[in-house]
Parts: sequence; structure tokens; C-alpha cells
Amino acid sequence: MSDCIFCKIVAGVIPNTTVFEDDQVLAFRDIDPKAETHILVIPKQHIVNLASVQAHEWPLVQQVLQSIKRIAEQENLAGYRVITNNGEQGGQEVFHMHWHILAGKNLPGF
Ligand code: 5GP
Ligand code: ZN
Repeated sequence: MSDCIFCKIVAGVIPNTTVFEDDQVLAFRDIDPKAETHILVIPKQHIVNLASVQAHEWPLVQQVLQSIKRIAEQENLAGYRVITNNGEQGGQEVFHMHWHILAGKNLPGF
């Protein structure tokens, strides 16, 4: 198995708090939440980040984004922010593409 933390989560080797799952997408709560609600949405397939998406992988990105909408509805989020960090200079620490859903009181402005 690869050294990737999120691939290990997909494989069930590292436990997670799943909030949504389908054939291609997994969403789980961030271990170190930066907001009242902090969910990570990932493709089960290892893709490094948005910048590295190959032409044939765009349908998977679409499935991730559709999942974000569904999760927000499922969690009854009144409003939310979606972030995907790209590369070290973009603040990416885990190099398996993931989309943060942040919601709740006192979401900082920027
Ligand atoms: P990044 O900085 O790469 O955009 O975000 C990585 C996120 O993954 C961080 O918010 C961090 O708290 C979260 N994270 C890192 N390791 C784990 C883990 O083992 N389990 C979960 N649930 N979240 C993790
Ligand atoms: Zn991975």
C-alpha cells in the first residue's frame, strides 16, 4: 500500500468518521477541525491535487463536487465554504486531492 494517509483511510487501515460514501467518493470529518463543521471530501482514487487532474479524470472531479452539494444538504448547512489547497505553496499538506467543507459560526473572513 502507498504511504498516502488518505489512501489508507479509503482502505480502512486508518479509521475515520464517514459522513458520505459512494463508489468513487468518501467524505469524513477532519481530525483537527478548523470550524464547527469541517468535512474532507476525497476521490477514492489517488489524485494528487486539482492541478494534476488528467483529462479523463474530470468526471470524477464532478462527482466530488456533486457529493459536496449532497453532503451540505445532508448536514443541513445553512452556508458553507469549500477549499482545495494545491501544492505546498497553496498550503497542501496531504497530497491526495481533498476538498474542505467548512461551516458554522464565526467562519473567518478573508
Ligand atoms: P491540507 O492542508 O492538505 O489541505 O489539509 C489536510 C487536512 O487533513 C488537515 O485539515 C488535517 O487536519 C487533515 N488530516 C490529516 N491527517 C488526517 C487523518 O488521519 N484523519 C483525518 N480525519 N484528517 C486528517
Ligand atoms: Zn492517496
